[in-house]
Amino acid sequence: MTFTQEKTLADEVRADFPILHQEVNGKPLVYFDNAATSQKPLFVLNTLRDYYEQYNSNVHRGVHTLSAKATDAYEAARDKVVKFINAASRQEIVFTRNATEAINLVAYSWGMNNLQPGDEIILSVMEHHSNLVPWHFVAQKTGAVLKFVELTPEETFDLEQFNKLISDKTKLVSVVHVSNTLGCINPVKEICAIAHKYGAKVLIDACQSVPHMPIDVQQIDCDWLVASGHKMCAPTGIGFLYGKLELLRSMPPFLGGGEMIADVFLDHSTYADLPHKFEAGTPTIGEVIGLGAAIDYLTGIGMDKIYTYESELTSYLFEQLGQIPEIRIYGPKPKVAGLGRAALAAFTASNVHANDLSTLLDQEGVAIRSGHHCTQPLHRYLVIPATARASLSFYNTPEEIDVFIKALKETLDFFGSFST
Ligand SMILES: *Cc1c(COP(=O)(O)O)cnc(C)c1O
Repeated sequence: MTFTQEKTLADEVRADFPILHQEVNGKPLVYFDNAATSQKPLFVLNTLRDYYEQYNSNVHRGVHTLSAKATDAYEAARDKVVKFINAASRQEIVFTRNATEAINLVAYSWGMNNLQPGDEIILSVMEHHSNLVPWHFVAQKTGAVLKFVELTPEETFDLEQFNKLISDKTKLVSVVHVSNTLGCINPVKEICAIAHKYGAKVLIDACQSVPHMPIDVQQIDCDWLVASGHKMCAPTGIGFLYGKLELLRSMPPFLGGGEMIADVFLDHSTYADLPHKFEAGTPTIGEVIGLGAAIDYLTGIGMDKIYTYESELTSYLFEQLGQIPEIRIYGPKPKVAGLGRAALAAFTASNVHANDLSTLLDQEGVAIRSGHHCTQPLHRYLVIPATARASLSFYNTPEEIDVFIKALKETLDFFGSFST
């Protein structure tokens, strides 16, 4: 093992996550489904509890004390997001229910209003359904054409092919930063630089990068970026959209109602300033405050430290999986990926279906996912029906990888003894 410290980051933080300390099917839980949703530390749970116990109140409307306190906490969470991803202004951060809603906001507000027949949208074959289906809607409605970046032989984003696909017809490039299936880290800064040369806008789906590495939207120079709170230690029901100020200013509202207006008349209305223009109705106040707490918690550890530790976990995971000949892992090997690789492995076993693998591992207390992980087109591209996926977080340990590998080997042996 090549862990740089005797006491790992996981050793320091595990006590913060009550849910990890339980048995599942009589075995200690090994939670390796972090790419689907992360667990929440006590600090976030207590922040939610404090909000509901002590100052639950609607925001932006009341002058009474509780409402002022809730509004302050809600807006303070926005400032935390701003700092966390280095946005230039608090007006650039819009709270949404999740990343999916944030992409739909851009698709409806910008896509439906700015694209014409023959305009091109470049996506990639590794996109999550959330970054495909909204663009299907836009293409169907506007006549825009969808183009797809494929994979290199190492199963990473093919930048060379992207360079050939892009042209003056390209109006939008919308790509994932870190693939939730391949684990590759895509060269988003280069993608933005290339796209901007052609005058195209770029949306980055950062669901799998924001929770695991430092992110700087000004350095990436993306036009929009989206993420979901529930994958970064925050509650479900909260995500955010980052957008460059002038661009967000130029976009019409997506949903209409309270909170997003300046003045309302019977037959028309004027809109509130950014970011409230895009936050119609009572927001998910507790969840936003919970997201702020999650950011405090992650920042307290340090995103660099999280990335370094998870990279060590990745190497160890690959080393161990590599010793099982029946296993085929998708996406780049940690060494091949010049940009690094996320701490997850989607794989198939030659003689066992992914669903059987995850069912049997669950009997050993090991939670992994099986299926298409909302990347059905990618699975079709790779000509596989499903993969099993182990996805790790900074609170996972090398010992848990050992438990997972042992259970996996036993499962494969069990099936092997039938087939021979
Ligand atoms: C999870 C995920 C999404 C969608 O997130 P929701 O929280 O379901 O909106 C989109 N893209 C990627 C890469 C994801 O991992």
